[in-house]
Amino acid sequence: MNDCCTLPRRDGFDVAVVGAGSAGFSAAITAAEAGARVALIGHGTIGGTCVNVGCVPSKALIRAAEAVQGGIAAHRFPGLGGSVQLDNWSALAASKDELVGELRQKKYLDLLPAYEGVSYIESKARFDNGALIVDDAPFKAGKIILAMGARAAAACCLNWTRKSALRCKLILKQKASAYARVSAINGLHRSMTALR
Ligand SMILES: Cc1cc2nc3c(=O)[nH]c(=O)nc-3n(C[C@H](O)[C@H](O)[C@H](O)COP(=O)(O)OP(=O)(O)OC[C@H]3O[C@@H](n4cnc5c(N)ncnc54)[C@H](O)[C@@H]3O)c2cc1C
Repeated sequence: MNDCCTLPRRDGFDVAVVGAGSAGFSAAITAAEAGARVALIGHGTIGGTCVNVGCVPSKALIRAAEAVQGGIAAHRFPGLGGSVQLDNWSALAASKDELVGELRQKKYLDLLPAYEGVSYIESKARFDNGALIVDDAPFKAGKIILAMGARAAAACCLNWTRKSALRCKLILKQKASAYARVSAINGLHRSMTALR
């Protein structure tokens, strides 16, 4: 069993996975199930984007918003009435945080002890001259998997002047309409094939 609070070994790993989000966990577990000794190197809140700030909290709040929206829209149907409003934002936010905490525990933290072959190391990894550096020291592993997530970047324009912003908008529009045309042609093709 991997003990999260003792000093981890620094050698003898077949695989080092950098990033302990959903992709990193999946990679680490898959490698461990194949018999590899895995170092899962994570920085920040364990579980990464999806469970902490992405899929889970966003859907929890979106479902609540849908319930409000449904209540507000109900009067459009004959015979329906009633109303719904946000009474207590703090309670709603707390329930979202509770769900996030529960899923992070069950789907991530509780999994670590279940995999003998996975050692979790809390550290911000980096590369220096091609060597993986963990806690300011070189870290040896047979293979390295990078699963560090992604960040948003500005789309196509270099400097956000009014002119470049307009050009960017135009390019995106052209791409969108080209995509719509391709989809329409594909749809038409499928319908024609179905009719034959
Ligand atoms: C608001 C929102 C809603 C979303 N909703 C959905 C959805 O409904 N369905 C869906 O499929 N996807 C959804 N996504 C996308 C989903 O969250 C991501 O695709 C997924 O979390 C990516 O997982 P990952 O493991 O690649 O990266 P992450 O989950 O971002 O994990 C990367 C981890 O690596 C760590 N890390 C980074 N650098 C280092 C380093 N140098 N050393 C050590 N660790 C490091 C980070 O701290 C982080 O913990 C949503 C995203 C957002 C933002």
